[in-house]
Amino acid sequence: MIYLDYAAHTPVSDEVLQTFFDVSRDYIANPNSPYKLGREAAAKMEESTNHIAALLGVKESEIIYTSGATESNNLAIKGIASAYKRYGKHIITTYLEHSSVTGAITALQNQGYDVDFVPILEDGLVDLNQLKELIREDTILVSICYVDSEIGLKQPIEEISELLKDYPHCYFHVDATQAVGKVPISLNLIDLMTFTPHKFFGMNGSGILIKKENILLEPIIHGGISTTKFRSGTPVLPMAVAAEKALSTMLENLEYNYSYVTILNKQLREGLEKYSNVCINSTSNSIPYILNISFKGINSGAFQEALEKHDIYVSTKSACCAPNTASRPVYAITRDRKLAMSTLRISLSHQTTKEEIDTFLFVFDECLKELG
Ligand code: PLP
Repeated sequence: MIYLDYAAHTPVSDEVLQTFFDVSRDYIANPNSPYKLGREAAAKMEESTNHIAALLGVKESEIIYTSGATESNNLAIKGIASAYKRYGKHIITTYLEHSSVTGAITALQNQGYDVDFVPILEDGLVDLNQLKELIREDTILVSICYVDSEIGLKQPIEEISELLKDYPHCYFHVDATQAVGKVPISLNLIDLMTFTPHKFFGMNGSGILIKKENILLEPIIHGGISTTKFRSGTPVLPMAVAAEKALSTMLENLEYNYSYVTILNKQLREGLEKYSNVCINSTSNSIPYILNISFKGINSGAFQEALEKHDIYVSTKSACCAPNTASRPVYAITRDRKLAMSTLRISLSHQTTKEEIDTFLFVFDECLKELG
C-alpha cells in the first residue's frame, strides 16, 4: 500500500496514541470538578496548554480547543462577524479556502454580509494590489489560508497583515491547517489562527483556534465555561495532551522533514514533468508537501480509481469537496475549467519513501498508457 494523501489525514503516531491512552486511563475526573482528582486533571490541562502556547509563541489564554479545524474556522469567522457587526459587514477571502471557511462565509452572506474574493496571481499568490483596493472602512474580517489544501500555495501572510494594520476593526484570520508542523509560523501579525493535529500525526476530532487576547468573539457553542468562555464543553484533556505531543514532535523535526520532503517533491515533479498531457499546477510558491496536477483529456476520478487498483491512494481534490465539481483553487490560478475539473493531489510526509515515489511513478505511467 502506498498512501499519498497526507493533506487529507495523517495516521496517528504511536507516541501520540500512547499519550492519549495513558492520559485517558490516568485522569478519570472532569478538569472542571472542584475536588482533588478534578484539580489534578486541570493542572495537567494547564501544563499542556502552557506548552502548546510556548511552542507557538502565544499566551495560554489565547488557546481555544475545538473539535477540529472546521469548527475553529466557523468559530473564528462567525464569531468575529457577530462580535464586530456594529463596525461593518464586509468580509474578504480567497478562492483558495477550504470549504469550512467558504461555507462559514457563505452562511454569513446569506445573513446580509457582503463578501469579496481577492484574485490570485498566476504564481498562486494573493494579488496584494487588489486586496488593498478591496479593503474598506467597514471590512471587519479578512480570512486567508497560510497554505491551501489543494495546491499547497503559501501566502505572504506578513505582507497581507501589513496592509490591514491601518484598519483597527479589520481582523485577520488565517487557516493554517496545512501549514502548522510543516513550515515556520509567525503569529505576531495574525489575530486568529486555525489548525488541527490530525494533519500532523495527531488525533482526529481535535482542533485549535488561536485568538489574540484583545479580540472579542461571539461563541457558536454555548453552555458552561470550559477552558475558555469562547467554547463550552468538558475540556478534553487527552486530546490536549495528545495535541501537545504531536505539535512538539513536528516542530522539533520541522526543518529536517521539510528538506527531506523537498527531495521527494523534486523526484515526483521531475517524473511527472515529461508528460505532455499532465499539467503541474503547484508553483514555486507551493510547499513541497503538496503536488497538484491536472490531466488534459483524462478523467482524474478514473485515474484515482486506476491507482487504487494498485493499492495507491491519492485524492482528486480536498477530501471535503463535493465530487464532480471543478477545483476552485486550480481554477483560480489557471482560469481553465477543464484543468480545474481533472485535478489530482499527491501529498507527502516525512514517512513517504523514495521507493514509494519510484513505484508511484512507475504505476502512474502504466495508468496513463491505459487511460490516455
Ligand atoms: N482547513 C484546511 C486548509 C484543511 O485542509 C482542512 C481539512 O482538510 C480543514 C480546514 C478541516 O479540518 P477538520 O477535518 O479538522 O475539520
